[in-house]
This record gives sequence, C-alpha cells and structure tokens, in this order.
Amino acid sequence: MRKSTLKEHQQIKKTLVTPFNKHLGQLASFKSWQSRMPNLLWLGLIINKYGHIDGLAKCYRIIEFMKNNNMETDNLNITTILLLDDNNKILLFDYINNLCEDKILDCLCLVIDDKIFRQKFYKINKTSETRIKELKELVIECYSKFSYIGCDMRFFFSYHQAYIDKLKIMSNCSDTIAIFNEYYKLEHSEPIMGMYRSGIRAMEISFSMLSENLEYQTSFWNTVGNMSECELYLLDYPKGDEKKMKDFYEDVEKELHNLIADNFEKKNEDKFIVISGLLTYAVKLLKDVCDNNLHNSISSRIILRTIMDVYMNIKYLILLEKDSSNVWREYQDYGLGKFKLIYKKAQENYKINENSHLTPEILEAIVNDNFDEETMDIDLGYFDKTSIIKKFEEIGEKELYDTLYDYDISYSHAHWGAIRESSVLKCDNALHQLHISSDESNQQSSKSTDYDYIMIFIKIFRVVSGQFNGISNDFFDKYEVRNETNN
Ligand SMILES: [Zn+2]
Repeated sequence: MRKSTLKEHQQIKKTLVTPFNKHLGQLASFKSWQSRMPNLLWLGLIINKYGHIDGLAKCYRIIEFMKNNNMETDNLNITTILLLDDNNKILLFDYINNLCEDKILDCLCLVIDDKIFRQKFYKINKTSETRIKELKELVIECYSKFSYIGCDMRFFFSYHQAYIDKLKIMSNCSDTIAIFNEYYKLEHSEPIMGMYRSGIRAMEISFSMLSENLEYQTSFWNTVGNMSECELYLLDYPKGDEKKMKDFYEDVEKELHNLIADNFEKKNEDKFIVISGLLTYAVKLLKDVCDNNLHNSISSRIILRTIMDVYMNIKYLILLEKDSSNVWREYQDYGLGKFKLIYKKAQENYKINENSHLTPEILEAIVNDNFDEETMDIDLGYFDKTSIIKKFEEIGEKELYDTLYDYDISYSHAHWGAIRESSVLKCDNALHQLHISSDESNQQSSKSTDYDYIMIFIKIFRVVSGQFNGISNDFFDKYEVRNETNN
C-alpha cells in the first residue's frame, strides 16, 4: 500500500487522520496475517519443500483426495482438519506421507498434540533442536504479509473455499477468475504476479473478518515463543568524538570569556545580563555533555532541546526589543514569577522534604533579591502570550522547530516514540512474533548528537555577535566550515 503524504491527511480537531481511517472509520478491524498463519503452516511446509508450482500442485492433490474420499472440511485450517474422525485422519495423513517424502509435517509435532497426527508425522530420530530450527526457518519465510510462501498459503486457502463452493465467484469478477486460473501456473518472478499477489491478500483478508477460534493460534505462539531465546536487535551507532567535542567546549568557553570581558561596561544592562546569562546557561549544559561524554545518551537530546530554547529565547527577545526596549526586564520578571508561583505553592500547600533538590527558601530569596514580591504578578501563560512554535516561526526557524526541536521534545516529554527508539528493543526471533522488549541491560546507545551541538552553538554565537562584540571570527572560521563538510 502506498504511504500517504502529510498533505493527504485531514486535520480533525487536533488529530491528523490518514485517508484510510477517514474513509473506513472504526469499521476496519482485520486480524493480522500472523494470527492466521499458524493454522496454515502445514501447507507452508509442503510449498516450502517443493516450491511454488510443484508445492501448490501437491496441495491440490490433497484437496482432490479429500473430496474423492468425502472428507471435505469447511476450510484448510489444521485445527479444522484435526476435527475429522480418526479413520479419515489416518487415511489423509497416510496419503500426505505418500505424496510428500519423509513425514513432511514432522516439525509441527512441536505444537500439535493430536495423537494420530503425531503417530503419522513424528520422526523418532529427529532432535527437538532440529525441529525448532525447521519451524523457525519456515515462520521466518512466511511471517511478512508480503512473503511469497505466505501468499501461496493464502491463495490455496481461498482456492479451497472456491473448490468446495463456499466462495462464489461472479462471472464478472474477471480479476479473481484470472487469479484462480493463472496464479499456480506462473513463477513469482512473472510481472503479473505482483498484481495477483495483492489480489490474493485482499481476498484472503476478507476471511479474517469471520469470527474464528483463536485458541490454536494463541497456544502456537505461546509454545514456539518458549522454545528459544530473544534475539534483541540493536542499532550500532558510532561513538561521538569525545576529543573533538572537548576541544569544541574549550573554544566555546573561550568565546564566552571573551564576550564577558569585552562588554564589562555593559554588565548592569538588562539586555546584556539576559543574553550573557542565557548563553552561559547553554555553555554550562554543553560542559555537562562534554565532561561526561554524553554524546550518545538520551540526556544529550534533552539538553540539546533546552539549548535550542536558549537560542530561540535570545533571538525572539531581540525581535521584540524593536517594539519594546523593556523586554529584557519583562523576560526576567516572567521567569521569576514562575519561581514565585512554585515556592508559594510549596510553602502554602505542601511540605517539601529537606533532602529534595527543590528548596523554596532559595527560590524566595532569588525572587525578592531586587524588589518586593508583592509587586510581582505571576503570568500563567507563555512569555509574551506566544506559543513556542509561533516564536520559532517568528525568528525564521520553523524547520528547526519541526524537525530537531520537536524530535528532542519527544525525549524530554517521554513520548512513546522516544521510549521506543531508546529504551525498547525489537526481538528478531520470528518465533517470538518480532515483539519488543525493554532494553533492561542498557545495550542500545543513541546516535551521537555532536554535529547538532556544534550547529546550534554556531547559530547562538551568530545571533549574539550581531548584538555584542567579543566573539572571534576564528570560531566561525573553524566550526562553520567543518560542520558543513561533516554534513
Ligand atoms: Zn523475543
């Protein structure tokens, strides 16, 4: 199925709805191919052994034999076949063993405990390990909904439905008629087969809507799941360049010193206090990352997002300054108002443990440092009543917001995408149905953030150096070129 573009999604309230869901609403509820597959694996074993054309021919001879011996079943699920009476089962399984060599269904004895099935197919001289290996290889072959063998199994299930007249095909359904007449004769490499395969998937999926007993499927996956260990799949990212980033930090720190020294006479101006304060905050965060070699860590992403906030705040305040020179003071008051709200709540409503890193008395002292808190209002909204995304737009950084910022915000807000990427691993064992599992041993490291740290500091320094002297051209010469070539 082609993947729809974002533009093709329709916004309904705060949700972008895919075209598929928009048209079908909640009606679509397909059981997955993986839940139907276990019941058809016996066909898969035959097709896997003899190939697409010969395998399907053998399957045809089996249903022909069943019909000739009046042992028709409602469908070809193994659970349905096992409901035949004992004599018929003996007859049928003997026929299969004659038609196909060497007790072909042996590995299914791992999951089928029917007495006659086991008598007929169980091979004494085979080990459980071999059986598990064979079953696993088959499941891997069939697991994907696009698998060729899987498609053959689905074709034959549908074909049998038509063969026993449970599926009526209208004479005007030429595509379906062509599938039933041609599919089993052509190799999968024939171009027309792509169309046939998608037709078969669509046709067979309609059977999945019928209510069916899922007991066998559940017990199949439980049983095979317990037979082998998880094979957790890791993404192996190169380590961030620790030495390069330590050098980078030293250069950044040097530029901060230069800025402070060059603007000593401005030290009491609100604008300089705010910009140098924000910059220092970003530099201290960078130090945390570089000192502790956090480049491949989750925290470096969360920290990077905060540094992007620093960049946005500086650039946005410069923008506001054109209309209001007092904005530097307002920005400080807004932030202190946030602290006031916290310590007031803490003092009036709660008892904060003295070991907590939150110390209301310190917040109170900071808020009252310059003036009386009684004169300070608390703004409960965004600074300047403007959302974060709007601010990024206003400063010409919508792309940064839409991509890196929104991505890293998933990490700071613990959205599932971030959890799934960093802390939950995919199991590659098909017998485990490719489940996901906690990275409890901390094996997965994240892709290094070092390129983006350099990128954001270049942006910050560009903005700051547009306002104050002190940042050297050497910094830009060294890092702007290097970061572009590393791209
Ligand atoms: Zn597993």
